[in-house]
Amino acid sequence: MNFRSTRSDETVSASYALLHGLARDGGLYVPETFPEQVLTYKDLAEKSYQEIAATVLSYFFTNFSADERKEMIAAAYNDSTFDDERIVPLHSLDTELTIAELFHGRTLAFKDLALSLFPYLLTAAKKQEKEERDILILTATSGDTGKAALEGFKDVDGTNIMVFYPSEGVSPMQKQQMQKQEGKNVRVTAINGNFDDAQSFLKRVFTSEEVNAYANEKGVLFSSANSINIGRLFPQVAYYVATWVRLVDDGIVGQNDTFDVVVPTGNFGNILAGWFAKKMGAPIGRLICASNKNKVLADFFKTGVYDMNRDFYTTDSPSMDILLSSNFERFLFYVAGGNTDRVAQWEKELQETGKMQVSPEELAALQAEFSGDWIDDDETKAVINHVFNDFGYLMDPHTAVACGVYMNFHKEGRLPHHTVVMSTAHPYKFPPVLCQALALPASDDPFTMLATVSEVTNIALPQPLADLRQKPVRFADTIEREAMKDAVLSFVDTISDRQKA
Ligand SMILES: *Cc1c(COP(=O)(O)O)cnc(C)c1O
Repeated sequence: MNFRSTRSDETVSASYALLHGLARDGGLYVPETFPEQVLTYKDLAEKSYQEIAATVLSYFFTNFSADERKEMIAAAYNDSTFDDERIVPLHSLDTELTIAELFHGRTLAFKDLALSLFPYLLTAAKKQEKEERDILILTATSGDTGKAALEGFKDVDGTNIMVFYPSEGVSPMQKQQMQKQEGKNVRVTAINGNFDDAQSFLKRVFTSEEVNAYANEKGVLFSSANSINIGRLFPQVAYYVATWVRLVDDGIVGQNDTFDVVVPTGNFGNILAGWFAKKMGAPIGRLICASNKNKVLADFFKTGVYDMNRDFYTTDSPSMDILLSSNFERFLFYVAGGNTDRVAQWEKELQETGKMQVSPEELAALQAEFSGDWIDDDETKAVINHVFNDFGYLMDPHTAVACGVYMNFHKEGRLPHHTVVMSTAHPYKFPPVLCQALALPASDDPFTMLATVSEVTNIALPQPLADLRQKPVRFADTIEREAMKDAVLSFVDTISDRQKA
């Protein structure tokens, strides 16, 4: 399977797309021909998560052998990387609603599902492309990506990783996770600014000819671990397919039943993977895009207008504090029926005016499958409180946004099928929000807050957080966003010196 750009006819191999992330014309890579309706329950019934992932990925990464894929999957999803052998366990709250827990990996966020596998895909692609240079992964994060990428790439030979995060845009626990990162090949820096600033300034560095030439001279090749990379996106399709198979295996839905999904959305990678799973054959009815107060996407699905000209809010669900969703362009490619000129035009409008609009016909077509809605921070905390009190189930603020949107739709009778809420983080990553939601005393120390929460909920501290507590801070710097370029160049020098040593 080759991959093509969303903005032109540029077509490349999977290994090239894995290594380079972004297309040369600035677009994103999509499969040259999408494998439509290739999956059936009969073929997948009772299969393990690893077997299901192998089947899903066999359609996209044909550049690797079946044995190679199997090996990578075994290394990514096992009892040292996930604390539940089902990888994505389901938890039904009642007969109408199931939570798919995507947070059982090493950093307690759904990003682990892709980023446990991605380093293996990338290093195999590097070999295939006969790429001798050291890889430097550059990543901007709103919290969870950075940590999951750091854990995935930590001490992987031939790779290095540098992560930038907005200093005030992540939770205290996420900040500790970042500042205490281990590994010889990692660097972590906070920047003054929000996530969009971090992302757009990093993109500038990433695409600068001058910076790339400098890195090349030093034997370093830039790559990204952001959710635009095909090695991030396609592994995510697997957990939607696995969720479907498990729902039927467990008798929660019937073999011919449709189910709806609600996805807490930021960069649009997770929900896009859900739509891809549907295109491959998973009987998903409606995909509901849940936003927080940064509701660009919720508005888009109501009006067909994507408008970033608005205030940016820092919310209790920081991984969704995004105005420009980087994976949205892939969705637009399909909305435009594969018309790359139209996508390029939309992207140009977005860049120049911060706004684009689909036609009424296109809007109607996508509203047949998608809906969008949002709730604010007060409602989010009320949902956490309500679900804990009524069901004894504690959810993180991102999942609670999706659950709140679910409850609003459900009240209006707009969800005819069994619904799955994708749960994207362990609640203990967000202690201050939990304390507020459950009316417990706050503290400056997130671990003190978790001890308080734990007394009420009886949920033990997960091992990765217990370990984190003991570790020393390694990366405490905060820089201006204009200084990001020099920070990258300085790390390139370090890598180059290490090669010589
Ligand atoms: C990244 C993240 C999201 C948003 O996912 P996208 O794929 O960017 O839409 C939601 N919740 C959590 C906890 C996340 O880490």
